Amino acid sequence: MTMDAKTTPAAAQATVQAPAIAHVGVIGAGQMGNGIAHVSALAGLKVTMLDVRPEALERALGVMARNLDRQVAKGAISAEEKAAALGRISTGTDYTLFAEADLVIEAATEKEEVKKSIFRALCPQLKPEALIASNTSSISITRLAAATDRPGRFIGMHFMNPVPVMKLVEVIRGIATEEPTFQAIQALAGKLGKTTAVAEDFPAFIVNRILVPMINEAAYALYEGVGDIRSIDTAMKLGANHPMGPLELADFIGLDTCLSIMQVLYEGLSDSKYRPCPLLVKYVEAGWLGRKTGKGFYDYSGETPRPTR
Ligand code: NAD
Repeated sequence: MTMDAKTTPAAAQATVQAPAIAHVGVIGAGQMGNGIAHVSALAGLKVTMLDVRPEALERALGVMARNLDRQVAKGAISAEEKAAALGRISTGTDYTLFAEADLVIEAATEKEEVKKSIFRALCPQLKPEALIASNTSSISITRLAAATDRPGRFIGMHFMNPVPVMKLVEVIRGIATEEPTFQAIQALAGKLGKTTAVAEDFPAFIVNRILVPMINEAAYALYEGVGDIRSIDTAMKLGANHPMGPLELADFIGLDTCLSIMQVLYEGLSDSKYRPCPLLVKYVEAGWLGRKTGKGFYDYSGETPRPTR
């Protein structure tokens, strides 16, 4: 029996070209959004960045300029490349900005409702063939995809922080993600100079499934008085050869993001071993979210970070 390629989904998919990505939209101009915009613009892509807070967009442009300056100073890029990259980035608060985008990468706050409301506003503005990726650290790609009008063209593209420095991108297919979408994102990651690791769509994927429970355990070690902040970080840096201690790393990631990931693991896997440490919850309730707010496990207001307990 011969099969008509048009009637077999796998064969049909194989004949569809992966869409070429020349214009990338980025939603959320926080630490991750500005890094994603930075590497995309440097790779020659047109970038449009949106945030609900215009001041976040202003701040992101300043951070990108400073980070690009650092690369110029190190000789990694030329002053002309820096100027060209910044020239490729435009910003705004209106979703009509994404009408011509080939791909929009969502990198807003790690809350499922926030992300779903973004997709409701985004989808009607996109061209039909445009792809959507989420940079979520932990939320189900299948569930987020189901909140869009294009689950086949939806995927997880999980960059690491800081994006210009870290080499990895985790790629996560939802149950409906089509092969050309996956191929297009793999190709884009390569163009951005990143290496990919493919993860299945389970809570927190690979990196954060392993990393964030370790951070949560460090918060428990502090909460239970096993060690103070400096002892815990020194122990893991010198004892396990980690470049940053777990509490220092938590401040770098953002304590709100760490807590959200633990909640996703706890609820998604229904296992009490993932319960968030009450001390981590308290820091988040205080608004002590780490470096981005100037205070977390350490206080960053002085010359050198000082432990807050
Ligand atoms: P962040 O707090 O620095 O930035 C979030 C940005 O989203 C803010 O500028 C905020 O104004 C904006 N935002 C909130 N609601 C919005 C909305 N409705 N529309 C548009 N913009 C909105 O957070 P971040 O650390 O950049 O994290 C962003 C995403 O990246 C999260 O999903 C997070 O889990 C993921 N992530 C974070 C890290 C990390 O180390 N921080 C690493 C990988 C992935």
